[in-house]
Amino acid sequence: MEFLRPATWDEALAAKAEHPTALPISGGTDVMVEMNFDVHRPSALLDLNRITELTEWSITDGVVRLGAAVPYSRIIDELSEPLPGLARAAHTVGSPQIRNRGGVGGNLGGASPAGDAHPALLAAGRDVYVEACSVRGTRLIPIDEFYVGVKRNSLEKDELIRSVFIPVADGPQQFSKIGTRNAMVIAVCAFGFALHPKNHTVGTGIGSAAPTPRRAVEAEQYLQGVLEERGLWESGDLLGTEVIQKFGELVKAAASPIDDVRGTADYRRHSLAVMARRTLTWTWNDYSKQIRSAA
Ligand SMILES: Cc1cc2nc3c(=O)[nH]c(=O)nc-3n(C[C@H](O)[C@H](O)[C@H](O)COP(=O)(O)OP(=O)(O)OC[C@H]3O[C@@H](n4cnc5c(N)ncnc54)[C@H](O)[C@@H]3O)c2cc1C
Repeated sequence: MEFLRPATWDEALAAKAEHPTALPISGGTDVMVEMNFDVHRPSALLDLNRITELTEWSITDGVVRLGAAVPYSRIIDELSEPLPGLARAAHTVGSPQIRNRGGVGGNLGGASPAGDAHPALLAAGRDVYVEACSVRGTRLIPIDEFYVGVKRNSLEKDELIRSVFIPVADGPQQFSKIGTRNAMVIAVCAFGFALHPKNHTVGTGIGSAAPTPRRAVEAEQYLQGVLEERGLWESGDLLGTEVIQKFGELVKAAASPIDDVRGTADYRRHSLAVMARRTLTWTWNDYSKQIRSAA
C-alpha cells in the first residue's frame, strides 16, 4: 500500500487528483478501525496530518471556519461559546483519546448516519457549508445536500474537505443522544436542536434514525409558525405542553429508522420524540431567561 504524506494543502490536492482512490486519513479513528477489520484495503493512504491549517479555526463576520481536523477536544475547550450544539455533541464522542484524535472532517468523510457531529451541524442553521476543495477549485456544499446515502457523501473523488463554515450561535442550542450506556457508545439515535432568534428560525438534526442524517423540516416549520403567530420570539412566554408535544410527534414522523443490533425502529421513534421535547424545553427555558434578563 502506498503512503502519501503531503506537507502542504496544495500538495494534498495534487496527490488526491493523481491518486483518486487514495483514502484520506486524518485522526484515523475510523480509518484504522476499518483497516484492522479489513473493511478497506485502499491502494494508498493520503495522510493529512502534516497540514497545519486543517487544525485551525477562525471567526469572520459571525461565521466559524472550522478546520476539518480540529479535534473534538479542542471544539469543547475553545468553541463551546460560538458553537454550543457542536461542542455538546463533541462531548459525547468516544473517549478522551478518540476526542483528541477525531474531528468533524472525519465524521463528514465517513458520513455514517450515526456520526454525532451531523445532527448538530444540521441544526446550526441554513448557512452551514462544507468547504470541498480539489485542484479544480473550491465549492461550498450546503450541509443538508452533503449526505447522499448510507455512509455516502457528495464529495467528488478528487475532493478533500478543507473546513466547515458554521454561523456563530445567536440563541441556545442542544444535543441529545441515546446509547446503551453513558460513554464510548455509538448513538442508538441522536437529536440536535437550535433556536435562531435573529432570523426567527429553528434548526433540527436527526441522527441514526434514517439512511442519512436529516432535518425534521415539518417540525421546524410548525414551531416557527407558532413562535411567529404568538409573538413568542419577543415575549419569551411559555410554549405550552401541546406545542411541545406536537413538535415531538413531528420530529418522530420525520425519521425512517430500521431495526438493528443497537435498537428497534419503534424505540428510535419513541426516543426521538422524547429528545425533541426535552431539547425544545431546555432551549426555550434558556431563551426565556435571556429575554427576561434583557427586559
Ligand atoms: C472507540 C471509538 C469510539 C467512537 N465513538 C464515536 C462517537 O461516539 N460518535 C461519533 O460520531 N463517532 C465515533 N467514533 C468514530 C470516529 O471517531 C469519528 O467518526 C471521527 O469524527 C472520525 O474522525 P477522524 O479524524 O479520526 O477520521 P478518519 O478516521 O481519519 O477518517 C474518517 C473518514 O473521513 C475521511 N476523511 C478524513 N479527513 C478527510 C478530509 N479532510 N477530506 C475528505 N475525507 C476525509 C477518511 O478517508 C475516512 O473515510 C468512534 C471511533 C472509535 C474507534
